[in-house]
Amino acid sequence: MSTAEAPVVVKRAHDAFRAGKTRSLECRRKLLEDLLRMITEKEQDFVEAMRKDLNKPEFESVSYEIDFAKNDIIDALNNLDNWAKPQQVERPLHMMGTPAYIQHQPYGVVLIIGAWNYPFQLTVLPLVGVIAAGNTVIIKPSEIAQEFATVLAKVVPQYLDNDCVQVVNGGVEVTTDLLKERFDHILYTGSGVVGRIVMEAAAKHLTQVTLELGGKSPCFIDDDVDINTVARRLLWGKFMNAGQTCIAPDYVMCKRSMNDKLLSAIVETIKEFYGEDPKTSPDYGRMVSDRHFQRVLSLTKNSKIAIGGDSDASQRYIAPTIITDVKDSDPVMLEEIFGPVLPIFNVHNMDEAIDFINSKSKPLALYVMSNSKAVIKRFTDETTSGGLVSNDVLLHAGLTTLPFGGIGASGMGCYHGKFSFDTFSHKRACVNANPGMDKLLSMRYPPYTTGKLNMMRWILGKKRKSGLFGWAVAAALIGVCAVVLFMVLK
Ligand code: NAD
Repeated sequence: MSTAEAPVVVKRAHDAFRAGKTRSLECRRKLLEDLLRMITEKEQDFVEAMRKDLNKPEFESVSYEIDFAKNDIIDALNNLDNWAKPQQVERPLHMMGTPAYIQHQPYGVVLIIGAWNYPFQLTVLPLVGVIAAGNTVIIKPSEIAQEFATVLAKVVPQYLDNDCVQVVNGGVEVTTDLLKERFDHILYTGSGVVGRIVMEAAAKHLTQVTLELGGKSPCFIDDDVDINTVARRLLWGKFMNAGQTCIAPDYVMCKRSMNDKLLSAIVETIKEFYGEDPKTSPDYGRMVSDRHFQRVLSLTKNSKIAIGGDSDASQRYIAPTIITDVKDSDPVMLEEIFGPVLPIFNVHNMDEAIDFINSKSKPLALYVMSNSKAVIKRFTDETTSGGLVSNDVLLHAGLTTLPFGGIGASGMGCYHGKFSFDTFSHKRACVNANPGMDKLLSMRYPPYTTGKLNMMRWILGKKRKSGLFGWAVAAALIGVCAVVLFMVLK
C-alpha cells in the first residue's frame, strides 16, 4: 500500500459503516458464514503459508489457530441474538414504568494489527468479534509472517464483502500510515514498544485501544509434583511453535534441590516429543527470521547450558535449550525470550518466588505446578497476571468462556468468545421515559424546597443490604412508598 492509499482504504470502511452495511444481525451473520466458508475451503493454503513462515506443523496450525477461530465463529453464530439483544437493567421503584436497558452498538471502523507468531489466530479471532459486533474493519497482518499475510490478502476479497473487511499488507511504514487515520477502535498484538506507538497514535483521535502484549510468564514448580507429568506439560507449552508463543512459560522457578530430577525428566520428554535429534522432527518449529534467530541465540551467551544449545543459522533452528545457574541480572532474565530457551531460576521457597514475580512487570500468564491447594491459593491471592493456570499451561487461552488479555505491561483489554463481542461494542445507556406522569416527577423541578429534597432523598436513597429485620423494614417502606405514589398520582 502506498502512502496515499491509507486515507482511501479507511474512508471506504467508514462509508460502509455509515451506509449500515454491517448494522443488521443478518448481515453480520452472513459475514460470519462467509468467513467460516473461507476458512474451511482455504484451510490448506493457510497451513502451507504458516509452514513456510514458521515451519509450523499442520497439527499446531489447525488445532491452535484455525479451529480456534472456527469455534469462535460458531459460538458467535449460536449466541449473536442473545449477545446483541438489549439488556434490561434493574430500576428503582419510582422508575418501574420507565424501561432502561443497555444497547450494544458497534463502534464503527476497527483496525486489527496482528503479530507474526500466530498469524492466523491473531487476525481472524479478533475479526470474529469485530464482525459480530457490527463494525467494519481493516486488518494489517504482520509483515514478518509474509506468506500468511499474502494468502490472507488474496482470499479475503474472494469471500467477504470488501467494503466491510479489508486487508492491507506492508511493513512498518504502512502501519504508521494507517495509524495516522481515525479509527473507532484499534486492537494491536505485539511488543510493548510498538504498543506505546499505537497508543500514542490512537490518543490523537481519542480512539480506544485493546493491547495484547507479551512479557515474561513465570512457572513455579513445587517440590511435591509428579515431575514427569510436569515436564511434559511445561515443555508442550514452551516448545510449541519453537517457543514463539506469547503465553509460553518463559522461565521456571523451583528450589535448587529440584534441578536434577527436573533436568532428567526434561531430557526424557524432549526425546519423547521430538526424537533423538529435534532438528529432524517434523513437529519442531523454526525462528521466524534471521533477526529473531540471532536475538534468541544471543540470550544464551555466557550461560550454563544444561540441555541443548545447538543451532543452525541456515534453517533458523535453535534446539530445545535449558539453562541453569541463572541470575536475575542475566540477559535471559531481562527480556521476554520468545524462543525455545528455558532458564531454571532457583528460589529458596514460595515466598521468594511470589516476591520475585511481584517485583517485575505484571505477566501475561502465570503457571503454578503444585499438589497443594494452599500453594495454588497463595499464588492466586498474592500475585496478579493476565491469566493463571495451575498444574498445566496455556489452557486458559483455549476457553472461549474466559477473557484473554494482559494487565499493565502485558496489555489492556481482552477478547475471545463473548468478550470479543463486548470489546468491540459500545454499551449505550438507554432510558425510554414515559411522556406522561409529570406530576410524579415534579419534585425535581425548581423552585426547590426542603420538602422536595427530603422526598427525593427518601425515594432515591439506596438502602444498605441487611438481615431479616432489614427486609421487613424495606417491605414496609415500599408499602408506604406505594401509598404515597398512589396519592400523588390520583
Ligand atoms: P511484529 O513485529 O509482527 O509487530 C506487530 C505489528 O506491529 C506488525 O503488524 C507491524 O507492522 C507493526 N509494527 C512493528 N513496528 C512498528 C512501528 N514502529 N510502528 C508501527 N507499527 C509497527 O510482532 P512483535 O512485536 O515481534 O510481536 C512479538 C510480541 O508480541 C511478543 O512480545 C509477544 O509476547 C507478543 N504477543 C502477544 C500476544 C497476545 O495475545 N498477548 C500474542 C502474540 C504475540
